[in-house]
Amino acid sequence: MSDLRNRNGNGISRLDFLKSSALAVGGGIVGSRMDIPVEKLKKHSGKAKNVIFLVSDGMSAGTLTMADLVKREQQGEPTWWINLYENPDRKFNRGLMDMASLDSSVTDSAAAASSWGCGYRINNDSVNLGPGGEEYKTILEIFRDAGKSTGLVTTTRITHATPSGFSANVPARGMEDEIAEQYSERDYDLLLGGGRRHFSADLRDDGKDLYQVFREKGYSIVQTREELHRAGRRSKLLGTFNDSHLPYSIDHQADEELQRSVPTLSEMTQTALDRLEQNEDGFILQVEGGRVDHGAHDNDAAGMIYDQIAFDDAVKVVMDYTEDRDDTLVILTTDHGNANPGLSAHGPGYRESPKMFRTLHQYRHSFEWVYNQFGYHWSHDSIDDSVSENQIREALEYATQTRITDEESSMIYKAFQGEFRAPYRNREDPGAVMAGVLANYNGVYFISTQHTADYVEIAAWGPGSEEIPAFVKNTALFDLMVEAAGVRRYAEG
Ligand SMILES: [Zn+2]
Repeated sequence: MSDLRNRNGNGISRLDFLKSSALAVGGGIVGSRMDIPVEKLKKHSGKAKNVIFLVSDGMSAGTLTMADLVKREQQGEPTWWINLYENPDRKFNRGLMDMASLDSSVTDSAAAASSWGCGYRINNDSVNLGPGGEEYKTILEIFRDAGKSTGLVTTTRITHATPSGFSANVPARGMEDEIAEQYSERDYDLLLGGGRRHFSADLRDDGKDLYQVFREKGYSIVQTREELHRAGRRSKLLGTFNDSHLPYSIDHQADEELQRSVPTLSEMTQTALDRLEQNEDGFILQVEGGRVDHGAHDNDAAGMIYDQIAFDDAVKVVMDYTEDRDDTLVILTTDHGNANPGLSAHGPGYRESPKMFRTLHQYRHSFEWVYNQFGYHWSHDSIDDSVSENQIREALEYATQTRITDEESSMIYKAFQGEFRAPYRNREDPGAVMAGVLANYNGVYFISTQHTADYVEIAAWGPGSEEIPAFVKNTALFDLMVEAAGVRRYAEG
């Protein structure tokens, strides 16, 4: 699909919009404290040479908590996110954010990232397009036009909802072939993640070879961790390390071949900073821990928690980068809650919970790995008739190092056959049923397999971050970024 730029225009400039605070918003609360007043933002204009946006996708408060509990037990220290709050030497600002989209108090990742990427609330499923087809200029284009370097790093397909919410315009997030094509036209400096299937001639529906298009534009193309480390620093860079999403961290850690071929999120983040910081005029970089969300959808406690810890390692890379600088605005947040997991109280005086939770240390694989052992995909209604109950049980018991009962095994088998019935239909998926069984051993339970309306945690440091109110609206971050970086005039063109 070609660029939709000329469909733009509702006649209201972004600044007019900010000034007329009475304009209603569809999906959430209307309140003056939630936006950041323009005068406050103007004070910081241009003070942030660089902007780094760190987003753990679908991170409920329980996910942040449980990752910290696991890391303290395993490594004797808190996560870097909690270290930020705990360490008296670190300066930061913190609040809660209302992530509602235009058409729902429960957002999807496309509308969520677009609220930061263009400054408007839009309908779920769209990417930087208003309900009437208005095409909003994205923050990566704004920074690019201001002469700054631009980068996207993720563990999902690079064409997935969150990175595209900073950089692309499509009516439906599933149009990932089109998103890849827009990337090829928009001259961003660095793209690292999964998603070969949207670039390769062999895998795209239309047979176009987008790698060739990028190559002709002077990009270095890398497909493995080794190639990433060998790539020269001068050129633009496109790195795709899997056909679809990158593997979960827990599977990556258990497989030497994957470790050789796929870089970690923190390695990709370090590479991005090394390259983007060469631009004297600065850069914008988005880093996404994208599969925390997938683990939550699947109610896969270990898949989710170890990906949150891997995301946290990338947070440390950025903390180190900003250690002695005052020219970089960093935003650390999530785009919505998901399945709201938590460690529940168990046993007399709740004293069983820590011991149960510790079983997660022994887990070897994600639910996704379990499914792969017998050819199931989460989008399937049921398993193949040839798959036996025992096959499933063995894969699950190996992955989790947990012995379950015959009755539990039978419930799980029914779920894979599409015959399990739960009071709440949002908890009938095999993943949710496996999680329910495992909760008897690890103590962790989930409320659903979907996103939630929870207000989300946001922390920030660097120029302008002190203006974030304790309760902030998602779209205010767009204004914070463009004002702090002094690039507002590129936002309208
Ligand atoms: Zn999601």
